[in-house]
Amino acid sequence: MTIQENVPLAPLTTLQVGGRARYFAELRREDEVREAAQFAKSRELPLLVLGGGSNLVVADSGWPGLVLRIAIGGIASPRTTSPGATDATGNAVLFSVGAGVNWDDFVAQTVAQNCAGVECLSGIPGSVGGTPVQNVGAYGQEVAATIESVRVLDLKEDRIVVLPRPACGFRYRASIFNSTERGRYIILRVNYRLQRGGAPSLKYADLQKYFAGRVQESFPERPAGKKTPPSLAETRVAVREIRRSKGMLIVPGDDDCRSAGSFFKNPVLSEAQFKELAERAASKALEIPSYPALDAQHKVSAAWLVEHAGFSKGYAAGAAGISHKHALALINRGDAKASDIVGLKDEIQRGVQEVWGILLEPEPVFVGF
Ligand SMILES: Cc1cc2nc3c(=O)[nH]c(=O)nc-3n(C[C@H](O)[C@H](O)[C@H](O)COP(=O)(O)OP(=O)(O)OC[C@H]3O[C@@H](n4cnc5c(N)ncnc54)[C@H](O)[C@@H]3O)c2cc1C
Repeated sequence: MTIQENVPLAPLTTLQVGGRARYFAELRREDEVREAAQFAKSRELPLLVLGGGSNLVVADSGWPGLVLRIAIGGIASPRTTSPGATDATGNAVLFSVGAGVNWDDFVAQTVAQNCAGVECLSGIPGSVGGTPVQNVGAYGQEVAATIESVRVLDLKEDRIVVLPRPACGFRYRASIFNSTERGRYIILRVNYRLQRGGAPSLKYADLQKYFAGRVQESFPERPAGKKTPPSLAETRVAVREIRRSKGMLIVPGDDDCRSAGSFFKNPVLSEAQFKELAERAASKALEIPSYPALDAQHKVSAAWLVEHAGFSKGYAAGAAGISHKHALALINRGDAKASDIVGLKDEIQRGVQEVWGILLEPEPVFVGF
Protein backbone atom coordinates (compact mmCIF):
# COMPACT_ATOMS: atom_id res chain seq x y z
CA MET A 1 0.00 0.00 0.00
CA THR A 2 1.40 3.39 -0.99
CA ILE A 3 0.24 6.54 0.73
CA GLN A 4 0.56 9.62 -1.45
CA GLU A 5 0.40 13.20 -0.22
CA ASN A 6 -1.42 16.30 -1.48
CA VAL A 7 -3.25 14.57 -4.31
CA PRO A 8 -5.69 16.72 -6.38
CA LEU A 9 -9.21 15.34 -6.04
CA ALA A 10 -11.02 17.34 -8.76
CA PRO A 11 -9.81 15.05 -11.61
CA LEU A 12 -11.13 12.05 -9.67
CA THR A 13 -14.68 13.41 -9.65
CA THR A 14 -17.17 13.93 -12.48
CA LEU A 15 -17.95 17.51 -11.37
CA GLN A 16 -14.21 18.28 -11.38
CA VAL A 17 -14.15 20.77 -8.55
CA GLY A 18 -12.40 20.83 -5.18
CA GLY A 19 -8.97 20.80 -3.58
CA ARG A 20 -6.43 18.16 -2.59
CA ALA A 21 -6.37 15.16 -0.31
CA ARG A 22 -3.76 15.51 2.45
CA TYR A 23 -3.17 11.74 2.17
CA PHE A 24 -4.39 9.39 -0.56
CA ALA A 25 -4.22 5.65 -1.18
CA GLU A 26 -5.60 3.50 -3.98
CA LEU A 27 -6.50 0.06 -2.66
CA ARG A 28 -6.93 -3.12 -4.68
CA ARG A 29 -7.22 -5.70 -1.91
CA GLU A 30 -9.21 -6.10 1.31
CA ASP A 31 -6.08 -6.35 3.47
CA GLU A 32 -4.85 -3.04 2.00
CA VAL A 33 -8.16 -1.40 2.97
CA ARG A 34 -7.70 -2.65 6.54
CA GLU A 35 -4.11 -1.43 6.63
CA ALA A 36 -5.08 2.01 5.34
CA ALA A 37 -7.91 2.26 7.86
CA GLN A 38 -5.38 1.47 10.63
CA PHE A 39 -3.04 4.15 9.29
CA ALA A 40 -5.84 6.72 9.55
CA LYS A 41 -6.94 5.56 13.00
CA SER A 42 -3.45 5.62 14.47
CA ARG A 43 -2.95 9.21 13.25
CA GLU A 44 -6.53 10.32 13.98
CA LEU A 45 -7.05 11.30 10.35
CA PRO A 46 -10.61 11.67 9.04
CA LEU A 47 -11.36 9.08 6.35
CA LEU A 48 -13.08 9.67 3.04
CA VAL A 49 -14.01 6.67 0.90
CA LEU A 50 -13.91 7.44 -2.81
CA GLY A 51 -15.43 5.33 -5.57
CA GLY A 52 -15.93 6.85 -9.03
CA GLY A 53 -16.42 10.36 -7.64
CA SER A 54 -19.71 10.76 -9.50
CA ASN A 55 -21.81 11.78 -6.53
CA LEU A 56 -19.44 14.13 -4.76
CA VAL A 57 -18.86 17.83 -4.28
CA VAL A 58 -15.37 18.25 -2.84
CA ALA A 59 -14.68 21.53 -1.02
CA ASP A 60 -12.09 23.91 -2.42
CA SER A 61 -10.07 23.36 0.76
CA GLY A 62 -9.91 19.64 -0.10
CA TRP A 63 -9.87 16.81 2.43
CA PRO A 64 -7.69 17.20 5.53
CA GLY A 65 -7.34 13.45 6.20
CA LEU A 66 -6.90 10.25 4.21
CA VAL A 67 -8.83 9.50 1.02
CA LEU A 68 -9.21 5.79 0.27
CA ARG A 69 -9.92 5.11 -3.35
CA ILE A 70 -11.47 1.66 -3.51
CA ALA A 71 -10.18 -0.23 -6.56
CA ILE A 72 -11.05 -3.81 -5.57
CA GLY A 73 -11.82 -5.61 -8.83
CA GLY A 74 -13.30 -8.89 -9.91
CA ILE A 75 -16.69 -10.15 -11.00
CA ALA A 76 -16.99 -13.68 -9.63
CA SER A 77 -18.30 -16.03 -12.30
CA PRO A 78 -22.03 -16.33 -11.91
CA ARG A 79 -23.33 -19.17 -9.82
CA THR A 80 -26.85 -20.41 -10.53
CA THR A 81 -28.73 -21.19 -7.35
CA SER A 82 -29.98 -24.73 -7.07
CA PRO A 83 -33.48 -24.88 -8.52
CA GLY A 84 -36.15 -24.31 -5.93
CA ALA A 85 -33.67 -23.64 -3.13
CA THR A 86 -34.09 -19.90 -2.92
CA ASP A 87 -35.93 -18.96 -6.04
CA ALA A 88 -39.24 -20.15 -7.40
CA THR A 89 -38.05 -20.25 -11.00
CA GLY A 90 -34.58 -21.63 -10.31
CA ASN A 91 -33.16 -18.93 -12.57
CA ALA A 92 -31.56 -16.71 -9.97
CA VAL A 93 -27.91 -15.96 -10.67
CA LEU A 94 -25.61 -14.57 -8.02
CA PHE A 95 -22.81 -12.18 -8.95
CA SER A 96 -20.16 -11.23 -6.39
CA VAL A 97 -18.55 -8.01 -7.56
CA GLY A 98 -15.57 -6.03 -6.23
CA ALA A 99 -16.48 -2.55 -5.01
CA GLY A 100 -14.00 -0.94 -7.40
CA VAL A 101 -15.50 -2.42 -10.57
CA ASN A 102 -17.00 0.19 -12.89
CA TRP A 103 -20.77 -0.12 -12.45
CA ASP A 104 -21.69 0.15 -16.13
CA ASP A 105 -19.10 -2.48 -17.10
CA PHE A 106 -20.81 -4.85 -14.70
CA VAL A 107 -24.26 -4.02 -16.10
CA ALA A 108 -22.95 -4.69 -19.62
CA GLN A 109 -21.77 -8.11 -18.49
CA THR A 110 -25.08 -9.03 -16.88
CA VAL A 111 -26.96 -8.05 -20.03
CA ALA A 112 -24.52 -10.01 -22.23
CA GLN A 113 -25.26 -13.02 -20.04
CA ASN A 114 -29.01 -12.46 -20.46
CA CYS A 115 -29.55 -11.67 -16.78
CA ALA A 116 -32.31 -9.20 -15.88
CA GLY A 117 -32.51 -6.85 -12.92
CA VAL A 118 -30.18 -3.90 -13.53
CA GLU A 119 -30.64 -3.21 -17.27
CA CYS A 120 -32.43 0.10 -16.56
CA LEU A 121 -29.47 1.20 -14.44
CA SER A 122 -27.24 1.14 -17.53
CA GLY A 123 -25.05 4.21 -17.94
CA ILE A 124 -25.00 5.31 -14.30
CA PRO A 125 -21.41 6.39 -13.67
CA GLY A 126 -19.35 5.35 -10.68
CA SER A 127 -18.31 2.17 -8.95
CA VAL A 128 -20.13 -0.94 -7.82
CA GLY A 129 -19.33 0.03 -4.21
CA GLY A 130 -21.16 3.33 -4.71
CA THR A 131 -24.45 1.72 -5.74
CA PRO A 132 -25.74 0.55 -2.34
CA VAL A 133 -24.78 3.85 -0.68
CA GLN A 134 -27.64 5.89 -2.12
CA ASN A 135 -29.54 2.88 -3.53
CA VAL A 136 -29.09 4.10 -7.08
CA GLY A 137 -32.17 4.14 -9.22
CA ALA A 138 -33.30 5.09 -12.70
CA TYR A 139 -35.99 4.32 -15.26
CA GLY A 140 -38.11 2.31 -12.85
CA GLN A 141 -35.43 0.16 -11.21
CA GLU A 142 -33.61 0.53 -7.89
CA VAL A 143 -30.44 -1.42 -7.20
CA ALA A 144 -31.72 -2.53 -3.78
CA ALA A 145 -34.15 -4.92 -5.48
CA THR A 146 -31.18 -7.00 -6.70
CA ILE A 147 -28.79 -6.74 -3.75
CA GLU A 148 -28.46 -9.99 -1.84
CA SER A 149 -25.81 -8.79 0.61
CA VAL A 150 -22.93 -6.34 1.00
CA ARG A 151 -19.47 -7.30 2.28
CA VAL A 152 -18.01 -4.50 4.38
CA LEU A 153 -15.18 -3.54 6.67
CA ASP A 154 -16.87 -2.41 9.89
CA LEU A 155 -14.61 0.37 11.17
CA LYS A 156 -16.36 0.46 14.55
CA GLU A 157 -15.82 -3.22 15.31
CA ASP A 158 -12.68 -3.56 13.17
CA ARG A 159 -13.86 -6.68 11.35
CA ILE A 160 -15.19 -7.75 7.97
CA VAL A 161 -18.88 -8.68 7.96
CA VAL A 162 -21.53 -9.51 5.37
CA LEU A 163 -24.71 -7.45 5.72
CA PRO A 164 -27.80 -9.11 4.25
CA ARG A 165 -30.15 -6.81 2.33
CA PRO A 166 -32.60 -6.17 5.21
CA ALA A 167 -29.72 -4.89 7.35
CA CYS A 168 -28.88 -2.24 4.73
CA GLY A 169 -32.05 -0.18 5.33
CA PHE A 170 -32.66 0.65 1.67
CA ARG A 171 -35.10 3.46 0.86
CA TYR A 172 -35.42 6.07 -1.91
CA ARG A 173 -31.82 7.30 -2.48
CA ALA A 174 -30.90 6.12 1.00
CA SER A 175 -29.44 3.27 3.02
CA ILE A 176 -27.72 2.92 6.39
CA PHE A 177 -24.50 3.77 4.52
CA ASN A 178 -25.55 7.37 3.88
CA SER A 179 -27.77 7.86 6.93
CA THR A 180 -27.76 6.15 10.33
CA GLU A 181 -24.37 4.41 9.90
CA ARG A 182 -22.64 6.98 7.69
CA GLY A 183 -18.86 6.58 7.92
CA ARG A 184 -19.00 3.22 9.73
CA TYR A 185 -18.59 0.81 6.81
CA ILE A 186 -16.25 0.50 3.85
CA ILE A 187 -17.96 -1.53 1.13
CA LEU A 188 -15.63 -4.21 -0.24
CA ARG A 189 -17.91 -6.35 -2.44
CA VAL A 190 -21.57 -6.37 -3.40
CA ASN A 191 -23.53 -9.56 -4.08
CA TYR A 192 -26.34 -9.19 -6.62
CA ARG A 193 -29.12 -11.63 -7.44
CA LEU A 194 -30.34 -11.39 -11.03
CA GLN A 195 -32.76 -13.41 -13.15
CA ARG A 196 -31.37 -15.37 -16.07
CA GLY A 197 -33.79 -15.02 -18.98
CA GLY A 198 -35.91 -12.46 -17.11
CA ALA A 199 -37.83 -9.82 -19.06
CA PRO A 200 -36.55 -6.23 -19.09
CA SER A 201 -38.35 -3.70 -16.93
CA LEU A 202 -40.22 -1.29 -19.18
CA LYS A 203 -42.32 0.54 -16.61
CA TYR A 204 -40.96 3.98 -17.28
CA ALA A 205 -42.79 6.31 -19.67
CA ASP A 206 -39.58 7.42 -21.45
CA LEU A 207 -38.73 3.81 -22.27
CA GLN A 208 -42.22 2.97 -23.43
CA LYS A 209 -42.17 6.03 -25.68
CA TYR A 210 -38.77 5.04 -27.04
CA PHE A 211 -39.90 1.57 -27.97
CA ALA A 212 -43.23 2.77 -29.35
CA GLY A 213 -41.58 5.25 -31.69
CA ARG A 214 -38.00 4.69 -32.70
CA VAL A 215 -37.45 1.01 -32.35
CA GLN A 216 -37.13 0.16 -36.03
CA GLU A 217 -34.71 2.99 -36.65
CA SER A 218 -32.52 2.02 -33.66
CA PHE A 219 -32.59 -1.72 -34.24
CA PRO A 220 -32.72 -2.24 -38.03
CA GLU A 221 -32.05 -5.96 -37.63
CA ARG A 222 -35.49 -6.42 -36.05
CA PRO A 223 -38.04 -8.01 -38.38
CA ALA A 224 -40.21 -5.10 -39.62
CA GLY A 225 -43.73 -5.03 -38.28
CA LYS A 226 -43.13 -7.94 -35.92
CA LYS A 227 -44.12 -7.13 -32.37
CA THR A 228 -41.46 -8.94 -30.35
CA PRO A 229 -40.89 -7.41 -26.92
CA PRO A 230 -37.60 -5.55 -26.45
CA SER A 231 -34.67 -7.65 -25.27
CA LEU A 232 -32.41 -6.81 -22.32
CA ALA A 233 -29.71 -5.71 -24.76
CA GLU A 234 -32.13 -3.41 -26.61
CA THR A 235 -33.33 -1.99 -23.30
CA ARG A 236 -29.74 -1.22 -22.32
CA VAL A 237 -29.17 0.57 -25.65
CA ALA A 238 -32.42 2.52 -25.17
CA VAL A 239 -31.58 3.58 -21.60
CA ARG A 240 -28.09 4.74 -22.60
CA GLU A 241 -29.49 6.66 -25.59
CA ILE A 242 -32.14 8.38 -23.45
CA ARG A 243 -29.50 9.19 -20.83
CA ARG A 244 -27.19 10.63 -23.48
CA SER A 245 -29.94 12.93 -24.75
CA LYS A 246 -30.32 14.25 -21.19
CA GLY A 247 -26.61 14.69 -20.49
CA MET A 248 -26.86 11.88 -17.94
CA LEU A 249 -24.27 9.69 -19.63
CA ILE A 250 -20.60 10.54 -19.31
CA VAL A 251 -19.59 11.37 -22.87
CA PRO A 252 -16.10 12.84 -23.34
CA GLY A 253 -16.35 16.33 -24.79
CA ASP A 254 -19.94 16.91 -23.66
CA ASP A 255 -19.73 19.83 -21.20
CA ASP A 256 -23.26 19.08 -19.98
CA CYS A 257 -22.08 15.92 -18.24
CA ARG A 258 -19.44 17.67 -16.10
CA SER A 259 -21.86 17.22 -13.24
CA ALA A 260 -22.78 15.03 -10.29
CA GLY A 261 -25.95 13.83 -12.02
CA SER A 262 -29.24 15.04 -10.54
CA PHE A 263 -28.34 17.62 -7.94
CA PHE A 264 -31.64 17.49 -6.03
CA LYS A 265 -33.82 14.62 -4.88
CA ASN A 266 -37.47 14.48 -5.89
CA PRO A 267 -39.24 15.72 -2.75
CA VAL A 268 -41.63 13.30 -1.07
CA LEU A 269 -44.54 15.33 0.31
CA SER A 270 -47.21 14.72 2.90
CA GLU A 271 -50.85 14.87 1.80
CA ALA A 272 -51.14 18.43 3.21
CA GLN A 273 -47.91 19.63 1.54
CA PHE A 274 -49.00 18.13 -1.76
CA LYS A 275 -52.36 19.89 -1.53
CA GLU A 276 -50.67 23.21 -0.81
CA LEU A 277 -48.34 22.75 -3.76
CA ALA A 278 -51.26 21.94 -6.06
CA GLU A 279 -53.01 25.13 -4.88
CA ARG A 280 -49.91 27.23 -5.53
CA ALA A 281 -49.66 25.68 -9.00
CA ALA A 282 -53.35 26.33 -9.73
CA SER A 283 -52.95 30.00 -8.73
CA LYS A 284 -50.31 30.26 -11.47
CA ALA A 285 -52.52 28.37 -13.95
CA LEU A 286 -50.06 25.44 -13.77
CA GLU A 287 -50.65 21.79 -13.14
CA ILE A 288 -48.13 19.58 -11.37
CA PRO A 289 -47.07 16.94 -13.86
CA SER A 290 -48.23 13.47 -13.02
CA TYR A 291 -45.98 10.41 -13.39
CA PRO A 292 -47.24 7.03 -12.19
CA ALA A 293 -43.76 6.26 -10.79
CA LEU A 294 -43.89 9.39 -8.62
CA ASP A 295 -47.58 9.78 -7.75
CA ALA A 296 -47.91 6.81 -5.41
CA GLN A 297 -45.77 8.44 -2.72
CA HIS A 298 -46.64 12.09 -3.50
CA LYS A 299 -43.16 12.36 -4.95
CA VAL A 300 -42.89 15.51 -7.03
CA SER A 301 -40.51 16.13 -9.92
CA ALA A 302 -37.69 18.33 -8.60
CA ALA A 303 -36.82 19.23 -12.22
CA TRP A 304 -40.30 20.68 -12.75
CA LEU A 305 -40.09 22.72 -9.51
CA VAL A 306 -36.67 24.09 -10.51
CA GLU A 307 -37.75 25.03 -14.04
CA HIS A 308 -40.96 26.64 -12.81
CA ALA A 309 -39.04 28.69 -10.26
CA GLY A 310 -37.23 30.48 -13.09
CA PHE A 311 -34.15 28.27 -13.54
CA SER A 312 -34.23 26.97 -17.06
CA LYS A 313 -31.89 24.57 -18.80
CA GLY A 314 -28.70 26.36 -19.81
CA TYR A 315 -28.94 28.88 -16.93
CA ALA A 316 -25.47 30.27 -16.18
CA ALA A 317 -24.15 31.69 -12.93
CA GLY A 318 -20.51 32.49 -13.61
CA ALA A 319 -18.51 29.30 -14.00
CA ALA A 320 -21.38 27.20 -12.66
CA GLY A 321 -24.58 26.52 -14.50
CA ILE A 322 -27.47 24.24 -15.30
CA SER A 323 -27.09 21.63 -18.03
CA HIS A 324 -28.62 22.50 -21.42
CA LYS A 325 -30.22 19.05 -21.41
CA HIS A 326 -31.52 18.57 -17.84
CA ALA A 327 -32.78 21.12 -15.33
CA LEU A 328 -31.58 19.07 -12.36
CA ALA A 329 -27.93 18.78 -13.36
CA LEU A 330 -25.68 21.52 -12.02
CA ILE A 331 -22.57 21.69 -14.15
CA ASN A 332 -19.04 22.98 -14.00
CA ARG A 333 -18.92 25.22 -17.09
CA GLY A 334 -15.14 25.03 -17.29
CA ASP A 335 -13.15 26.34 -14.39
CA ALA A 336 -15.75 26.40 -11.62
CA LYS A 337 -14.78 26.14 -8.00
CA ALA A 338 -16.77 24.20 -5.45
CA SER A 339 -17.91 27.55 -4.05
CA ASP A 340 -19.48 28.44 -7.45
CA ILE A 341 -21.45 25.17 -7.46
CA VAL A 342 -22.56 25.68 -3.85
CA GLY A 343 -23.54 29.28 -4.64
CA LEU A 344 -25.79 28.11 -7.48
CA LYS A 345 -27.22 25.31 -5.32
CA ASP A 346 -28.12 27.90 -2.63
CA GLU A 347 -29.68 30.22 -5.24
CA ILE A 348 -31.87 27.41 -6.63
CA GLN A 349 -32.91 26.22 -3.18
CA ARG A 350 -33.89 29.79 -2.21
CA GLY A 351 -35.79 30.30 -5.48
CA VAL A 352 -37.73 27.05 -5.24
CA GLN A 353 -38.57 27.69 -1.60
CA GLU A 354 -39.83 31.18 -2.41
CA VAL A 355 -42.04 30.07 -5.30
CA TRP A 356 -43.15 26.62 -4.12
CA GLY A 357 -42.58 26.56 -0.35
CA ILE A 358 -40.41 23.43 -0.65
CA LEU A 359 -36.78 23.08 0.42
CA LEU A 360 -35.04 20.84 -2.10
CA GLU A 361 -32.61 18.36 -0.62
CA PRO A 362 -29.31 17.93 -2.50
CA GLU A 363 -28.46 14.44 -3.71
CA PRO A 364 -24.62 14.50 -3.91
CA VAL A 365 -22.40 14.10 -0.88
CA PHE A 366 -20.59 17.28 0.23
CA VAL A 367 -17.11 16.56 1.56
CA GLY A 368 -14.68 18.82 3.36
CA PHE A 369 -17.20 21.66 3.91
C1 LIG B 1 -23.96 12.03 -15.27
C2 LIG B 1 -24.44 11.37 -13.99
C3 LIG B 1 -25.62 10.65 -13.98
C4 LIG B 1 -26.07 10.02 -12.81
N1 LIG B 1 -27.24 9.33 -12.83
C5 LIG B 1 -27.69 8.73 -11.70
C6 LIG B 1 -28.93 8.01 -11.71
O1 LIG B 1 -29.59 7.88 -12.75
N2 LIG B 1 -29.35 7.45 -10.57
C7 LIG B 1 -28.62 7.54 -9.40
O2 LIG B 1 -29.08 7.00 -8.39
N3 LIG B 1 -27.45 8.20 -9.37
C8 LIG B 1 -26.97 8.81 -10.48
N4 LIG B 1 -25.79 9.51 -10.45
C9 LIG B 1 -25.05 9.62 -9.18
C10 LIG B 1 -23.89 8.61 -9.04
O3 LIG B 1 -23.46 8.14 -10.29
C11 LIG B 1 -24.27 7.40 -8.18
O4 LIG B 1 -24.68 7.81 -6.91
C12 LIG B 1 -23.07 6.43 -8.04
O5 LIG B 1 -23.53 5.22 -7.51
C13 LIG B 1 -21.97 6.97 -7.13
O6 LIG B 1 -20.92 6.01 -7.13
P1 LIG B 1 -19.41 6.45 -7.03
O7 LIG B 1 -18.59 5.22 -7.02
O8 LIG B 1 -19.07 7.45 -8.05
O9 LIG B 1 -19.39 7.09 -5.58
P2 LIG B 1 -18.62 8.42 -5.09
O10 LIG B 1 -19.17 9.59 -5.79
O11 LIG B 1 -17.16 8.21 -5.17
O12 LIG B 1 -19.07 8.46 -3.57
C14 LIG B 1 -20.42 8.75 -3.23
C15 LIG B 1 -20.64 8.36 -1.75
O13 LIG B 1 -20.51 6.95 -1.62
C16 LIG B 1 -19.47 6.63 -0.71
N5 LIG B 1 -18.78 5.45 -1.24
C17 LIG B 1 -18.35 5.22 -2.50
N6 LIG B 1 -17.77 4.01 -2.58
C18 LIG B 1 -17.84 3.47 -1.35
C19 LIG B 1 -17.39 2.23 -0.77
N7 LIG B 1 -16.75 1.31 -1.48
N8 LIG B 1 -17.64 2.03 0.56
C20 LIG B 1 -18.28 2.94 1.32
N9 LIG B 1 -18.72 4.12 0.83
C21 LIG B 1 -18.49 4.38 -0.48
C22 LIG B 1 -18.57 7.87 -0.66
O14 LIG B 1 -17.85 7.94 0.56
C23 LIG B 1 -19.59 8.97 -0.80
O15 LIG B 1 -20.20 9.22 0.43
C24 LIG B 1 -25.31 10.14 -11.61
C25 LIG B 1 -24.11 10.87 -11.63
C26 LIG B 1 -23.68 11.47 -12.81
C27 LIG B 1 -22.39 12.24 -12.81
